[in-house]
Amino acid sequence: MLVVKNDAYGHGLSTIATAAADAGIRSFATSDLATGLATRAVVPADTRVLAWPTGERSLLADAIAAEIEIGVGDFELLALLIDRHATRRTRVHLEVDTGLSRGGFRPDQWNSLASTVSAAVTSGAIELAGVWSHIAEASDDDDDDARSRYDEAVHALTTAGLTPGIRHLAASAASWARPEFRYDAVRIGAFAYGIRPAGGPDSATLGIRPIARLLAPVVAVDDAAVTVAVGSRDGLFSSLAGAVDVATSAGLRPLREVGAEVSRVGSWPGARVGDTVEIFGPAVEPTALAEAVGTIGEEVVTRIAPWVPRTTALSP
Ligand SMILES: *Cc1c(COP(=O)(O)O)cnc(C)c1O
Repeated sequence: MLVVKNDAYGHGLSTIATAAADAGIRSFATSDLATGLATRAVVPADTRVLAWPTGERSLLADAIAAEIEIGVGDFELLALLIDRHATRRTRVHLEVDTGLSRGGFRPDQWNSLASTVSAAVTSGAIELAGVWSHIAEASDDDDDDARSRYDEAVHALTTAGLTPGIRHLAASAASWARPEFRYDAVRIGAFAYGIRPAGGPDSATLGIRPIARLLAPVVAVDDAAVTVAVGSRDGLFSSLAGAVDVATSAGLRPLREVGAEVSRVGSWPGARVGDTVEIFGPAVEPTALAEAVGTIGEEVVTRIAPWVPRTTALSP
């Protein structure tokens, strides 16, 4: 499943969903119903779209009508979906809490979950399309514990006579490094966008590369520096000033200042208005910028303001 939450990690949802569908991806996942519906609007009809709504319920009827599969981690939402079956049978992915405590049915709820879901499946109110959990992917030991709990949850459901549907546990890191975490599907976000973990293995080792470039036009040139039209209002961390290099046609140059509207980059011979500077991309990865200011690559890409145009280009 390609994860497209947060406007496809800041890359532009419709651009990404369209390109991914063109490349043959038929399974998408997101954390909110609005993104699920926006994805549904641009992908082919035979595509599966999963959304796990946390709190937000107003778009539920629309999402069900659009055949969005729903991630469910609490009895309140489960009851809502069961009650709705007169209009349409919802495909449900049960979320189980395997230790992260960020959502999902807790172990002490699994038996009553199994009986509630069995009754609802038997009566035709819902379809059990999947069982999933989210893990930290910070330590192998913790992930192993989470995986055992996940297996116990699946066991509780199958013991009650249920077929779990698609079992999915891993996000990018565990799905890459640990085959035993792959089950029937994996939910890939960061790595699909070529964003490696901060402080982790490099991109070549992982076999990924950033798919986005943030390009800024040169709008002024003086002896000391060139001025480029991107700044903190566009989502660039001002703390990047003095901390990183950016890519120019003459190679890497220091990012000297980040203003609200414009930034200043070390000059090079022949620099001209109209040249382009790459703030991040394959040459200077989002995660490299993130590491310089103590955050993660996802933060760098998702902060880029919505008015910065997202365009596609054939990659070299
Ligand atoms: C964000 C998210 C993912 C994707 O994680 P990456 O590390 O970006 O691949 C998968 N599953 C859930 C539940 C998420 O919230």
